[in-house]
Amino acid sequence: MIGLYVHIPFCAARCRYCDFPTAPYEEAAARRYLRALEREAEAAADYVGPLRADTLYLGGGTPPVLRGEQLGQLLAEVPGRFEVSPEAEATCEANPESLTAEILEALAAAGFNRLSLGLQTFDDGLLRLLGRRHDASGAEEAYWQARAAGVENVSLDLMYGLPGQKQAAWDRDLARALALKPEHISLYALTLEPTVELYRRRAAYVFPADDEQAEMYYAAAEALAAAGYRQYELSNFARPGRECRHNLRYWQDGEYLGFGPGAASHWRGGRYRNPRELDEYVAAAATGRWPLVDAEPSDPYREIRTAAVLALRLTEGLDAAAFAERYGVNPLEYYREELAPLAAAGLVTVDGDRLRLSPKGRFLADEVFAALI
Ligand code: SF4
Repeated sequence: MIGLYVHIPFCAARCRYCDFPTAPYEEAAARRYLRALEREAEAAADYVGPLRADTLYLGGGTPPVLRGEQLGQLLAEVPGRFEVSPEAEATCEANPESLTAEILEALAAAGFNRLSLGLQTFDDGLLRLLGRRHDASGAEEAYWQARAAGVENVSLDLMYGLPGQKQAAWDRDLARALALKPEHISLYALTLEPTVELYRRRAAYVFPADDEQAEMYYAAAEALAAAGYRQYELSNFARPGRECRHNLRYWQDGEYLGFGPGAASHWRGGRYRNPRELDEYVAAAATGRWPLVDAEPSDPYREIRTAAVLALRLTEGLDAAAFAERYGVNPLEYYREELAPLAAAGLVTVDGDRLRLSPKGRFLADEVFAALI
């Protein structure tokens, strides 16, 4: 079984904190892009042969900026080239203002059963500042509209560390999200790359300090646990059995094929990544071959380190015996030198055969990963 990821690199407009390679939706560009996706999927299907998928993820960008019929055509031409299990988890990312009755109908007709909704915050002032195109009440309306259309598995994205945000405001955001009773919640700290608009204007705002952000993260984990959500990954919390199966596949170093600019694939030990820029991607897809660019040469050293860092993202951490069986090295021995200072700093714990991030290590995971990658 594999997972399929399809990227839609269009949005209605760019948010002020976003550095993803997305473009404003435009009919002719979308038509060209859909054609490129079809060609990539055709070439990939020829190359890998018959494959069965049990997860499908439509991400972006904002997939619902496409019209319903474009979405239908895309789903027939890309995942449609593979065998998608009727029990597959099929997720679509959406922004509240992008969800229309037509889109919800097209998604239901294509068998989508999970929605990942980018709410970010319920503070209308912050939503405007971030350049989001919805307000808090619009977000709640979109949520209930999806429920009314029969979507029974919904994930909400929230952001903390926003300009001027205080713990009390963050607590209110969490409470309002929990009142909706979603199956899954993802929490992200705002990070600003130097290329984004909000970075250039950062001097005009006061951002929560690192210790305030840490407090927001820990308080959220506690509030979500009390409400019945288990933290299963650094940023992800789910009701029992509602973990995102597609994303788990990435962290468990499983196999997947990704379509579209910047999309990654991991198949039969090979790792592939498509060109990140849209024009370059469209040109590469026009060659009719797959992979679109040369695969990264297989490197056992990199495979081991990548798999270890991915596994450590999960709350269950890394089982040394299972890891040794799969990758041929015991990570507790392999990383002996690196682990000693990390454990002394309280960032990781070793419990028998199990290596995990500590709660402190979860907030400072990038420091741990930098030492282990
Ligand atoms: S909707 Fe998402 S992908 Fe699109 S510009 Fe905003 S943050 Fe970026």
